[in-house]
Amino acid sequence: MKKVVKFGGSSLASAEQFKKVGDIIHADADRKFVVPSAPGKRFDKDTKVTDMLYGCYEMAEKNHDFTAAIAKIEARYQEIIDGLGLDLDLTPEFNKIIDNFKKKAGSHYAASRGEYLNGIIMANYLGYEFVDPAEAIRFNEAGAFDAELTNKLLSKRLEDVERAVIPGFYGAMEDGTVQTFSRGGSDITGSIVAKAVQADVYENWTDVSGFMVADPRIIDKPEGIEMITYSELRELSYMGASVLHEDAIFPVRKEGIPINIKNTNAPQDAGTWIVGHTCQKSKYTITGIAGKKGFASINIEKDQMNSEVGFGRKVLQVFEEYGISFEHMPSGIDTLSVMVHQSEFEEKEQNVLSGINKAVNPDHIDIQTDLGLIAVVGRGMKATRGTAGRIFSALAHANVNVRMIDQGSSELNIIIGVDNDDFETAIKAIYAIFVETRI
Ligand code: ASP
Repeated sequence: MKKVVKFGGSSLASAEQFKKVGDIIHADADRKFVVPSAPGKRFDKDTKVTDMLYGCYEMAEKNHDFTAAIAKIEARYQEIIDGLGLDLDLTPEFNKIIDNFKKKAGSHYAASRGEYLNGIIMANYLGYEFVDPAEAIRFNEAGAFDAELTNKLLSKRLEDVERAVIPGFYGAMEDGTVQTFSRGGSDITGSIVAKAVQADVYENWTDVSGFMVADPRIIDKPEGIEMITYSELRELSYMGASVLHEDAIFPVRKEGIPINIKNTNAPQDAGTWIVGHTCQKSKYTITGIAGKKGFASINIEKDQMNSEVGFGRKVLQVFEEYGISFEHMPSGIDTLSVMVHQSEFEEKEQNVLSGINKAVNPDHIDIQTDLGLIAVVGRGMKATRGTAGRIFSALAHANVNVRMIDQGSSELNIIIGVDNDDFETAIKAIYAIFVETRI
């Protein structure tokens, strides 16, 4: 068996956390490929090393003196090295980094050093080979991740490697320019490595015992999710469930490599299994609820719109022209609504409206703002009658006005639009009807 284990920033924030990670790795000889994040927060008000690096580089870019800022970062690593009792001196690495900051190596390079240095410490601590992802995780000149080339290079690079530490979050372009993924991107690296070595499992270690049925900031101590499919997770992550980076499932999904979310601070917990297919039913009809606030709906009315071929395309083309992606597009016979992120829409609002007027000459346009979208997701919904009925009667009892309904064709989710102010009440009502009453 081969396992890829990725550890998040809070799992590696201090020497104590490193020791827990070491114990976890040593407890299972299959844990052969380790992907570390940069040191995260040690306590609530602490700053992640990645953020310290961004801040420090900003000073360097403005030609300000960043000596004190980089010294603080060096101290964070030194504390870990000392706490682990390692014989490791990062001074030459820091000298190189300072030099490159002065040469304006770029903010991607700067941020990536968090993982790079933590990787060096981790490799030294475990006695594993250090593999720099700049060698094998490839981005094209436009900065987009090249999945195919990466898989070729990385599987070759790791072919004869028994055990290795591969820092998360970054790779490089062909000319060596370092490029990072978006924030939280070490999750993606873990998945890429799992694919490259054809791992049996990708374990993603964090500070919670997996996914919850609903957001714990809204529901007090929600139930955990034992097993979820990639598709369900994609829906939930997209709508705000944030344990795992939303792009992290793609590399392993095609390979059918399961992801196990685990808690470094409670390794005995089973966590959540993310799998391709399962015949295991979820505990409740629904698998999870997630949502986001801050949407706007542009409602367009035109008599006999239904017979005007190309109406929808012309409307969407206007949104495309202004670079606004749409989330949902519920339609009636003579009405069509386009739901978008309010913040994206606001700045270009007047241009878009006049574009729509020109393109389709509608009778009336109005805009509804401050909407929240809630996704109720579950592979079990397809086979269960009355799920939608239960959701809407729960919302009616809770006095929530439903502004929009959309059921995906996969019958994996039902999306409900409500006023921002009703958002929490709606999630509580849905959670109560499915989980607390256990139907
Ligand atoms: N260190 C990076 C961040 O803070 C990447 C990661 O932790 O996954 O976003």
